[in-house]
Amino acid sequence: MNFYQVHYTDPGKLKKRFGLQHELESRYDLQYPINIEREYKRLGSDLQLDFDKWAEAFIVDAITALHSGNPIPELPVYSPQIDIEARMAALSALLTRFSIRQWRLAVKRTLGIDINIDYYKSMLAIYMREWALEQEELVRQKIEEIREELNTVLCEEPEINDAGAPELIPIVETADKTRSSTNTAISFFAVNAVGVAYSDIIEQLCRDAEVGKYKWITRPYASKAGTRPDHAKLHGTKHKWDTPPVINLKTGETGNPGDDYNCHCIASPIFPNPFLAGAILSNITASVERRLRRR
Ligand SMILES: [Zn+2]
Repeated sequence: MNFYQVHYTDPGKLKKRFGLQHELESRYDLQYPINIEREYKRLGSDLQLDFDKWAEAFIVDAITALHSGNPIPELPVYSPQIDIEARMAALSALLTRFSIRQWRLAVKRTLGIDINIDYYKSMLAIYMREWALEQEELVRQKIEEIREELNTVLCEEPEINDAGAPELIPIVETADKTRSSTNTAISFFAVNAVGVAYSDIIEQLCRDAEVGKYKWITRPYASKAGTRPDHAKLHGTKHKWDTPPVINLKTGETGNPGDDYNCHCIASPIFPNPFLAGAILSNITASVERRLRRR
């Protein structure tokens, strides 16, 4: 059962929609899942608060020990009070729902077909579960890295000043800087993970519906930092999922919208006419079109 067999109940109506056109551009502009990106970033700030609480107590202990010339206590294991697994599962569910809803709107407005949302749930389930696990792993690894870095900073032998006392201020400053990098690191993941996953999901939904082409849309989804000039140039151009355009003129790197870091560009589906299969029919239609135009 392919996409059309499952979803369209009225071929006559669909045929009329396409007429003699080979393809139809989406009549709905897919939106970038900016709220989901924000939600992911919120996890970063929540984890920062949690990590701060844990780290601050330890930094105080360590500095007190250094001050009195005692060995610094061993850095304890940090287990977040935030359920990262549940948060990632929620994010992945949000992203799945959002993407399917966007796709549904594009199909509805363009083809007039009301698709059954349940059709997609199992299709995306494995991908989204893997995505959530991968993100959870990334976040945990990052926090552990920061914890270890903090340990290194605090274990460093302090310099002794002219008065013969240990110089503790530089250590406190470095430790503070290290512990407060949690939020920034997770924001970095958020920006990358949501854009890439969204682009991948849309590509999967498109391929399932035999939509091999898309139109590159840059504005108005650009991030605050602005659109990369190389992406702005692609706005409105048409591409195939299989042969992505060059997204970085300097490196020659190619990609689909969302593949680049912090890329908020969107792939707008171009629906092929399902009644025109293969080149022969396309050629016939083209000559019919030409004839029509001559009239
Ligand atoms: Zn972009």
